[in-house]
Amino acid sequence: MTDDASPGPIRPPSEAYSLLIRVTVNCPWNRCEFCNVFKGSKFRRRSVEEIERDISAAGRVVGEVEAWADRMGCSAAAVARRNGLPWLGSGEVRSVFLQDADSLIIPTGELVEILECLYRTFPALERVCTYGRGKTIFRKSLDDLARLRRAGLSRLHLGLETGDDELLVQIRKGATAGEMAEAGRKAKEAGFEVSEYVMPGLGGRRDWERHARNSARVLNRIDPDFIRLRTFHLVGGAPIMERVRRGELQMQTIEGLLLEVRRFVEELDVTSELVTSDFAYNYYLGEVDGRLPQDRARLLEAIDRALDDWRARGEPERSPFRGPLNRCSA
Ligand code: SF4
Repeated sequence: MTDDASPGPIRPPSEAYSLLIRVTVNCPWNRCEFCNVFKGSKFRRRSVEEIERDISAAGRVVGEVEAWADRMGCSAAAVARRNGLPWLGSGEVRSVFLQDADSLIIPTGELVEILECLYRTFPALERVCTYGRGKTIFRKSLDDLARLRRAGLSRLHLGLETGDDELLVQIRKGATAGEMAEAGRKAKEAGFEVSEYVMPGLGGRRDWERHARNSARVLNRIDPDFIRLRTFHLVGGAPIMERVRRGELQMQTIEGLLLEVRRFVEELDVTSELVTSDFAYNYYLGEVDGRLPQDRARLLEAIDRALDDWRARGEPERSPFRGPLNRCSA
């Protein structure tokens, strides 16, 4: 893959129908040990002109779809759907997602220009969302964040992964728990919808409890709109693989993961929506979606049922989370 080649639709599942616009290429940090998405690729910012050219090109596609729909006597939505354009599936561009890993790294003024161009080009646009690194947001002033919010950036997706300082160092996240909490809190104060990602299993069998407790502690300071779980699993090319091979990190069992998420849910003191159903590796967490605090009892009951179920069946000999490691060591 060349440095500019698209890594594919790297975006949250909730952005499946959004128009994807790359404002940067790859990840400016690129050191997280569990992540392989941009490893070996160089980061670069794209110029405002380059991005505006992409936005204009998408605008021209919308015009062509509308003209075609007119000629055919059908709706633009129907033409878009039949031609594999999910971002135009409603007939208008209503949602945009800015790629790649950390859009807020670009100067605030440039990002405002890009947002203005988007809202000018797509008059029905309702929201623009993006990924942002905690450290980058931590470094932004509240004024800059509020300016971006006013310009129409709507939701920030932040990878907290863990709120435990020791684990944050081990995974080379490049930010402390305090900085992560401050970043999320500031984003909320600026008016953003905030979606925080936590990684069950990241503390392995030894540090799971500290990981659960401290992650909840950071989230309690932020009270994000959404908390999304992304169960830790090994992916080829992720540096953390070496620590697992050396036996320094023992992958969690399913029972361990359930106990960990149970502890996490118990410790949360937030008004967030907990989303576990939008990630395939969370499959052991059936029905553990809901709004806190009102759904806490139901979520804990669902986890307890899953625990009983796993205990009755017995832990599989090979954890499903060990597949890639086994392949790599072969
Ligand atoms: S900031 Fe995100 S994309 Fe970059 S290395 Fe870390 S997890 Fe991967």
